[in-house]
Amino acid sequence: RRDTVVPSGSWAESLPRGGEVLIQNVTKSFGPLRVLDNVSLTLPSGSVTAILGQSGSGKSTLLRTVNHLERVDEGFIAIDGELVGYRQHGQTLYELKEADIRRRRTEVGMVFQNFNLFPHLTVLENLIEAPRAARGLNRAEAEELARGLLARVGLADKADAYPRQLSGGQQQRVAIARTLALKPKVLLFDEPTSALDPELVNEVLDVIKELARSGTTLIIVTHEIGFAREVADTIVFMEQGRILEVGTPEKVFNRPDHPRTAEFLAKVL
Ligand code: ADP
Ligand code: MG
Repeated sequence: RRDTVVPSGSWAESLPRGGEVLIQNVTKSFGPLRVLDNVSLTLPSGSVTAILGQSGSGKSTLLRTVNHLERVDEGFIAIDGELVGYRQHGQTLYELKEADIRRRRTEVGMVFQNFNLFPHLTVLENLIEAPRAARGLNRAEAEELARGLLARVGLADKADAYPRQLSGGQQQRVAIARTLALKPKVLLFDEPTSALDPELVNEVLDVIKELARSGTTLIIVTHEIGFAREVADTIVFMEQGRILEVGTPEKVFNRPDHPRTAEFLAKVL
C-alpha cells in the first residue's frame, strides 16, 4: 500500500503510525446466534479497509472485537502483535486483566454513527476530557491539542459551542477530532455518515480521506460504495458473520468471486 507516504503539508502528518491488526479465526455468538463465524483478516500497518455487507451481517460486532469491547469466543485479535486474549476449543489460553484491556483499548479509536458526544459539554470540553483521563495530559496540554485538532477538521470557531448547536456533519467532525486526541494506532469507523443528511456526508468523508493518507490503520464500515472504492486498499464483504470476499476495490467491484457479492453490489450501487 502506497508505503504509507504522507503528502507533506497534510495535517495528518502528525498522527502516529498505524498498528498492524491481526484477526485470527474469530468466532462470537450471542446465545444461539453465531454473529462472527471463523473470521480471519490481516490488516497491515497503515492500511485502509472498507467493510461492506447487509445489516445484521456482523460488521459492528467485528469492529467491537477489534476495540476489545466484545470478548471473542474463539480465536484472537492482536494489535502490533499484542494479544488481549486467546481462546481455542472453548479454553482460555491467554487473557489480560480488565485494567490492562482498558489501557489497550485507547490504542484503538472508534467513531460511531451517532457521534456520541457529551451533550452537556462544549466542543472543547468534549475533546479535553478523554486525553486528560487516558493520556495524563494537563489542562493546558489537552486544550492545545484539542484546539489544533478542531482547526484540522475545520471547526476552530466552534470550540465553545454545544453539540446541539452544530449540524450533524459538524458533530461527526468533532467526534473524529475527539477520537484523534487519544492518538490511536487504529481507527474504526462504524457507518460514520449513515445518520447524516446527504448534503453533509462529503464534509465528513473528506476528513476521513485525509486520515486515510496519514498512515494510521483504518477500518471503515460504510454503505458509501464510491467512497470505499476511492479510499480503501482492501474491500471486505461480510454475510451472516462470515467474510465472503476480500480483495482490492478493483477486483471486488469489477470481478467479484462470489455471486452474493455481485448481488449486494448491484443493490447498493
Ligand atoms: P451489522 O453491524 O452488520 O448490522 P451487528 O454486528 O450489529 O451487524 O449484528 C449482527 C447480529 O448480531 C445481529 O443479528 C444483531 O441483532 C446481533 N447482535 C449484535 N449485538 C448483540 C448483542 N449484544 N446481543 C445479542 N445480539 C446481538
Ligand atoms: Mg452495524
